[in-house]
Amino acid sequence: MLILRAHHLLCIQGYKGKGYSLHFTDNMDKVVNKLKDNTCIRVVTNTDDICVACPHNFKNGFCESDEKVFVFDSKVLNELKLIEGRTYLYKDILNNIRENLTYEKFLKICKSCYWFSYGYCFNKLKKH
Ligand code: SF4
Repeated sequence: MLILRAHHLLCIQGYKGKGYSLHFTDNMDKVVNKLKDNTCIRVVTNTDDICVACPHNFKNGFCESDEKVFVFDSKVLNELKLIEGRTYLYKDILNNIRENLTYEKFLKICKSCYWFSYGYCFNKLKKH
């Protein structure tokens, strides 16, 4: 079982081994390697299994940029019709992304993300 905040469901698709620090990417590698079709994922809108290694914003169990990232989470929940606190199989999340995430929706969710300009995400998001 993994706990992931909603917008991280998209981040992990575009992940290419880059991140905020070595500790962060080591942890991210572990999370990504646990993702198999039948992995259970509880979708949340607060700090998760990725945030715990964040060198910038994870303080006392909270994200110091929470106001900003909560907006990303809310948009993902809304566009993919996911319910906060519910547990999903990873394969169902992948199917959901493939079927429902149009380029317009991707822009709506991700355009203001720091990583957007790197261009890693959308093509990878649709390649499942
Ligand atoms: S910035 Fe916030 S949401 Fe993003 S990984 Fe760090 S703690 Fe988590």
